[in-house]
Amino acid sequence: MFENITPGHPTETSISNLLSLIGKPTRIQILMVIHEQEACVCHLETVLGLRQATISQHLMVMRKAGLVITHRDGRHIFYWLARPELVDLLEQAASIIGSDLNALRSLSSRPISGCPCPQCNPEMDPKLTCQTNAHKKRR
Ligand SMILES: [Zn+2]
Repeated sequence: MFENITPGHPTETSISNLLSLIGKPTRIQILMVIHEQEACVCHLETVLGLRQATISQHLMVMRKAGLVITHRDGRHIFYWLARPELVDLLEQAASIIGSDLNALRSLSSRPISGCPCPQCNPEMDPKLTCQTNAHKKRR
């Protein structure tokens, strides 16, 4: 489960904790989606094609670690990257393995047609946006 990455551990342990914290494909994708612009869970659901519960779980772990921060706007909760340097780290990792982040970078593009989030569809009745539903399900 969640491992604390705050200071107090030897450096090697902290680095190891940080790497294992972000070292899952879904978390890497999430980081790429929210690194330029905040996003709500329903937007992540649309982009990643995963269940809301799964995404929320990953977000919660990264939020506890201080990598992701939340911002509430009315009834909507948006997540974004507290430490944008993480993307540099992913960039370096990609370079080491002779790959590049371009494919992943496209994850951050918006709007996405068919996405019911208030950012992709600002015209939508707030009562109908996915955020409202996601919020209800979480309680
Ligand atoms: Zn969206």
